[in-house]
Amino acid sequence: MVQAQVTRREFLKASALVAAQVTCGAWLTGCANALAASAPPPAASDAPAPIATPTLSRELPFSGWREVKYYDQLASAVVQCAQCPRRCVIAPNARGFCQTRENRDGKLYSVVYGRPCITKTTPIEKAAIYHMLPGTQSYSLGTAGCNLACLYCQNYTIARAKPEEVESYTMTPDDVVAAALKAKTKSITFSYSEASVAFEWMMDIAKVARAKGLKVILKTGGYINEAPLKELCGALDAINVDMKGFSQTFYDQVCQGELKYVLETIKTIRRENKAWLEVANLVVPGYNDDPKMIGDFCAWFKENLGDDVPVFFTRYEPAYRLRMPPTPVETMERTYKIARDAGLKYAYVGNLPGHTGANTYCPKCGKLLIERVGFDIKQNQIAKGKCKFCGETINGKWA
Ligand code: SF4
Ligand SMILES: [Zn+2]
Repeated sequence: MVQAQVTRREFLKASALVAAQVTCGAWLTGCANALAASAPPPAASDAPAPIATPTLSRELPFSGWREVKYYDQLASAVVQCAQCPRRCVIAPNARGFCQTRENRDGKLYSVVYGRPCITKTTPIEKAAIYHMLPGTQSYSLGTAGCNLACLYCQNYTIARAKPEEVESYTMTPDDVVAAALKAKTKSITFSYSEASVAFEWMMDIAKVARAKGLKVILKTGGYINEAPLKELCGALDAINVDMKGFSQTFYDQVCQGELKYVLETIKTIRRENKAWLEVANLVVPGYNDDPKMIGDFCAWFKENLGDDVPVFFTRYEPAYRLRMPPTPVETMERTYKIARDAGLKYAYVGNLPGHTGANTYCPKCGKLLIERVGFDIKQNQIAKGKCKFCGETINGKWA
């Protein structure tokens, strides 16, 4: 009996369709459109907006790469990347720490330009953005590679992978924006791994997205040099920085990075006062949950950012190489109380669905303003940026 042979091309095509169906509602629509291709064409006014062809591949053709903006050419075709504090010195045909930037003939290229391996429609709250467009959906995407190496990374299968080790889509900035509009989202979120290393792609998408009325959000570890960061502040609408632990020892043990650069990033975003800022801190038991450490962080926060920037303390769950029981609820509640007692008006607990610490309360009259259960908004008592009960201004980008 002769068995049918499945070619690599056919396999990739089939995987693309299956993966597309489970990862993105917009792609589902795209597949349906493809199946309906034999039906009579709709009238021009009814024609669906074009969206990207859902193809997945591990191939990274050089034609899709983009020369990066921030780097220096050294002697003998060696380059030095200037995107993040690592400042990798990269020999010809080699890549930097993040695996997303490669030296070809003395020029540094982004190999993940236009190559997301995750595309999903998610609530904006999932990006730990609570004070902008609550209850709306965001088109979120991520590429392979990261410039930190956290032991508890939830997304290690892409963040710790080389781009050619995971399948990715090919999407131009127009494709991404069309897919976001098709999915009826209000924003685009760069998340999952470290999007700032795909700086060029993000900047190009932001330009197209904002022209179409979409907000653009970055979820980042904050490991970015000042010059690209300042550009991002002007190009994006909101940035959530994940400050992973308020001690250099924690960054040494768990993240392979330096805390001082992350704190500098947070201060710069606040000082620039262009993109909306929120800050997150995953609380890992025995590593960064010490009450004094949390108290010192809250004091630093208030002194450098003020008392009205939202701050999230998120519950750790075992992942990747750090596999302990989740952070006890009592630890989360103690941490939340420290932040509230320090005078931080918009402190939250994350990853504890249904906990009242996820709600927004008016700092003046104390009334419940936004009730959240998981990523769902149960009620919202903020009107035109003010508390409906006492008129107090609630810091955020609500409209
Ligand atoms: S962005 Fe990547 S290549 Fe550039 S300095 Fe950072 S880790 Fe190195
Ligand atoms: Zn009030």
